[in-house]
Amino acid sequence: MRRCVSKMEFRFLVDYYEKIEGTTKRLEMTDYLVDLFKKTPINLLDKVVYLTSANLYPEFVGVELGMADKLALKAVSLATGLKIRELEKMYQERGDIGIVGEEAIEKKVQTSFFAKPLTVKEVYEKLDKLARASGPSSMDMKIRILSGLLSDATKKEARYLLRFVTGKLRLGIRAMTIIDALAIAYTGSKENRGLLERAYNIHPDLGLIARTVAEKGVKGLEEVRVEVGVPLMSMLCQRIPTIEEAFEKMGGKVLLEYKYDGERMQCHISHGKIKIFSRRLEDITNPYPDVVKHLSESVLAEEAILDGECVAFNQDTGEFLPFQELMHRRRKYDVEEAIKKYPAYLFLFDCLYVNGEDLTLKPLLYRKEKLKEIVKETDYIKLARYKVLSSPEEAHLFFDEAIESGCEGLIAKSIEENSIYRAGVRGWSWIKLKRTYQSKMIEPVDLVAVGAFAGRGRRAGTYGALLMAVYDQKRDVFKTICKLGSGFTDEDLNNLPNIFRQYVIDHRHPSVESKIDADIWFTPSVVLEVIGDEITLSPTHTCGLDLIKKETGLAIRFPRFTGRWRWDKSSQEATTEDEIIEMYNAQLKTVQA
Ligand code: AMP
Repeated sequence: MRRCVSKMEFRFLVDYYEKIEGTTKRLEMTDYLVDLFKKTPINLLDKVVYLTSANLYPEFVGVELGMADKLALKAVSLATGLKIRELEKMYQERGDIGIVGEEAIEKKVQTSFFAKPLTVKEVYEKLDKLARASGPSSMDMKIRILSGLLSDATKKEARYLLRFVTGKLRLGIRAMTIIDALAIAYTGSKENRGLLERAYNIHPDLGLIARTVAEKGVKGLEEVRVEVGVPLMSMLCQRIPTIEEAFEKMGGKVLLEYKYDGERMQCHISHGKIKIFSRRLEDITNPYPDVVKHLSESVLAEEAILDGECVAFNQDTGEFLPFQELMHRRRKYDVEEAIKKYPAYLFLFDCLYVNGEDLTLKPLLYRKEKLKEIVKETDYIKLARYKVLSSPEEAHLFFDEAIESGCEGLIAKSIEENSIYRAGVRGWSWIKLKRTYQSKMIEPVDLVAVGAFAGRGRRAGTYGALLMAVYDQKRDVFKTICKLGSGFTDEDLNNLPNIFRQYVIDHRHPSVESKIDADIWFTPSVVLEVIGDEITLSPTHTCGLDLIKKETGLAIRFPRFTGRWRWDKSSQEATTEDEIIEMYNAQLKTVQA
């Protein structure tokens, strides 16, 4: 290994940035990086790698520079003596803060007599200080730090410094290009990139990978481990159009699991401390204090890394809410309010680490067993629903069930011996099955309430949802089509038991055909106007049963009460089964893959 020389001038680094910026060819870019990394002293290699990927730390640390342009221009003004108005005008004309900085240094009114060449170490340390500055005087502090650096900077250094601090250093270097360059620079061959990539996928810290391979070579990479608190790259899915093809690809037996439509969450639990990371490795713990609390009550291991999908869900109907409901969390406004309105439910589907044991190289069923062992299911934390099936026919029914309940489809997962957790890989051991057809619902329908379910949580004491039906005029019966729990005002909700009191009976009404057991049954009388997102195939409802597909009926997905009680309509005047079938057939649309 090379001798350690600790000094490197910043000038040297920005010369490379200029060259890299000047090429669009990945191979040429890699060559420049190889050259740069070879000439970088080992003790500075991590810093150079972070800076070159436009960061100061690994991405998951989540400390961002993101200095506002206005603030950066103030620092330029302080360093050069140029008026802020003049700089703003230059910025308007040039549109690139880097170029403004460069020209400002050239026009500098005041020169610093004590200017000395900037070193990479000094630049990094000052930027680190700038990034971490907080509190009431942090703005001033940031301006002072940056202007200090600019006072010593050359024109070219100023260009890149300003782009860096304002988040506009766009050299177009991807992590995989850096990995290629490190493999060539420190193992002598691109052949070894796979080893670096695996290390990066389970511990995505480019600086650490760089220092490890530079100091200890390929052998050292084996020491890079899964670590609680450091997110792994998520395992991803391939896509296949039909269930039959998934079975062919995966052998006779396949684990099929609901594909929840929400936000991926990788949960790291360490002795009572919990962090949640997104699929893009961002720390998203803050918007989800409720999920943190629920996890702390549900996970029985001291240390664990769990993979799951967080969704908005209606506990009363057991139906999922559309994905957008969860996105309210990402807006900055009151998280408390969002928690109340859109409680989050987490469906866990994988377990990557438990109490010191790295499970990523174990087969899926082993990981599933561990997950079951260490998670106590609660109202808010659940295990993802799955079945191990050996025929596509069974899988089709399970697929319809998943769609009807609001999922996007299924994920087929291999359960073979080599079904390890492939961090960062989009391979064939996980295959997503989404729909190719969708029936869009554009007009509301009038449905009859035939039963109800007792409310839980906030709805304790009233009904959580109503069981709704259509009318089959040929046989004079009512057939169920959905559970309805959304769209009611608080007042309506509290009033439901009163409204329905006179219709309550102690058994299912003989004219009602239902596969579902309601908690309370009604004489079919009250009609409500309902709108949904679409009409889907359903193994649970009796509307259209066996008429479109064997053992399958139709359901309304994401149903909502429009607010109109149709007191003017009798139950026989409700929307008919025939009308629903017509709507379903007329509105089938191919979904874009
Ligand atoms: P896509 O985003 O369409 O490529 O689908 C992959 C995503 O589905 C994953 O990143 C997860 O966020 C999500 N997902 C939902 N349910 C599951 C599940 N049971 N297993 C794995 N991923 C799931």
